[in-house]
Amino acid sequence: MLFDLIIEKLSGHDTSGKVGKINKEAGSDVKVNDVIFSIESGKGTVNFISKYNGFIENLSIDEGDTIKKGQIVGRISGEKSNEVDSKNLTEKNNSKKTAYSFGIAKPINKTYEVDVAIVGGGPGGYVAAIRAAQAGFKVLIVEEDKLGGTCLNYGCIPTKSLVNSIDIIDKIKNSAEFGIEVHPIKISLEKIMDRKKEVVNNLVSGITHLVESNNIEYIMGKAIVQDEDTLTVKNKSENSAIKFKKLIIATGSKTSMLPIEGSNDKSILTSKELLELKEIPKSLTIIGGGVIGMEFAFIYAGLGSIVNVIEFFPSVLNTLDEDVILPIKESAEEKGIRIYENACASSIKSSMDGSKIVEIKIGDKTEYVTSEMVAMAVGRKANIDSLDLDKLNVKLNEKKNGIEVDEYMRTSNPKIYAIGDVTNKIQLAHVASHQGIVAADHINGIKKPMSYDLVPSVIFTSPEASQVGVSEKEAANKGIEYITGKFPFMANGKAQTMGETNGFVKLIADANTRKIIGGSIVGIHASDMISTISNLINAETDIDDASHVIYAHPTVAESIHEAILDLDNRGIHF
Ligand code: FAD
Repeated sequence: MLFDLIIEKLSGHDTSGKVGKINKEAGSDVKVNDVIFSIESGKGTVNFISKYNGFIENLSIDEGDTIKKGQIVGRISGEKSNEVDSKNLTEKNNSKKTAYSFGIAKPINKTYEVDVAIVGGGPGGYVAAIRAAQAGFKVLIVEEDKLGGTCLNYGCIPTKSLVNSIDIIDKIKNSAEFGIEVHPIKISLEKIMDRKKEVVNNLVSGITHLVESNNIEYIMGKAIVQDEDTLTVKNKSENSAIKFKKLIIATGSKTSMLPIEGSNDKSILTSKELLELKEIPKSLTIIGGGVIGMEFAFIYAGLGSIVNVIEFFPSVLNTLDEDVILPIKESAEEKGIRIYENACASSIKSSMDGSKIVEIKIGDKTEYVTSEMVAMAVGRKANIDSLDLDKLNVKLNEKKNGIEVDEYMRTSNPKIYAIGDVTNKIQLAHVASHQGIVAADHINGIKKPMSYDLVPSVIFTSPEASQVGVSEKEAANKGIEYITGKFPFMANGKAQTMGETNGFVKLIADANTRKIIGGSIVGIHASDMISTISNLINAETDIDDASHVIYAHPTVAESIHEAILDLDNRGIHF
């Protein structure tokens, strides 16, 4: 049987505590009365004791994590014993799961026959699974690491938790402007990281719950291809064979490293390690000034590190329009982030005192950038080698850097679909999820093709930026006759009250059809407001209709209305 591990009791009347020593990790065998981990709280330490003979399928906590009463911290597979020294551990019997007899660490052979098997439980895989289960299919997910994938565990969510901590630091630094003085600011990286873990754990528990409540089978372990119709997975509790009618490959991507001298040094950080640092580095050089690199540059500069960014292209964030990049660069400069553009990192060496020296070539000049730590943020490689694609008869795209798919996410094998980063179309969580919906719908007989025309990109720097549809750069390159409408936050009442006047909204409309075809926002709420522009473009709204939508006052979103009016040079407030 499978049981959730729930924190029922803490010391005294405490409602939260910290995870102390973990004695039994995920994958460990446990016997009744074994101490799985300890919990420290204000009133003392209690042990979290096993009531089972079995093994731990997953444990979503690390030492030092804050946990709360009622929180589900993992799952155990085994049999309950009556000989328990009942103290802390309680179980919620997952009765809808198949019950089976379980001997300690002795895997049983099991065969699943499902309509849809999905490899990878990231935002592509779990969304596809839920959509397919909603349509009545028997669905199974195989995940070798953690549900939620890169996005929830090592990407979108943890970075945004850190971004929000930095935002608070910035707000406190500017608080005197609002008549509030706070001195001194004390930053605890440990607590910032604890909060990040808590947010991630809550969301991963939420996904686990969604998977269970949609009756989706979930097996932990690495999926291996047996043949075109069968996967196998081995873990401590079962050796499974999964026979599927349809397969969705959602294996995601992994960090890539520049093949330069010194890049295989273990001390070179990637985004994963940047999310786990225990101490704030005095100085940090980030190779790569794309979205991930720039987000981390602002995070660590906000924590007090001296940050250098080395960008190969003529500009950081080079897919955005120049006027959108400018406020971000100005803000970076104010925060002491040193940006090297048109700069090719050619080697990383260690000096006698342990600091790192990155050699960069800018034109025919060679420069050296020294810092305590170096991180690489130069893109991600599709996980095309985590399954035997030849056995599945699934082909790669022309560049051999992703799985080839059609507009319904079908691969070269009609019963197999691929979604998310592994397709290497646009490596974003919302693209992966939407591809998942398109694939699951297609399996369900609904033919709604995937379109990449309206994928918003959002950059959580300070200020934030976002863009959707046709950018001004693109419109000019494609020879589209276009007009622009722009409204600065400086002239927006709500932005003034918030002290957030940096940035603007810019809209692009086709000069002939007068339809809105693109937009960019840099500044406050850029990430949230871009969806309004997506809707205007999707509905093929022209300037006349769009200008008659009423926006609430006072809101930052009124800037979108003003930008619409400015497309006809009829802005009211600017
Ligand atoms: P993943 O999330 O990578 O999930 C794939 C899963 O498949 C993994 O959990 C892996 O363990 C599992 N798997 C692989 N092979 C096997 C196998 N053989 N058997 C079993 N399991 C397997 N995107 C945004 O939209 N917004 C952001 O703000 C954002 N920020 C990011 C910040 C960082 C630092 C990083 C690294 C990425 C960020 N991304 C962001 C990108 C986003 O995380 C990815 O686009 C998204 O996670 C892709 O989803 P996916 O389902 O395709 O793959």
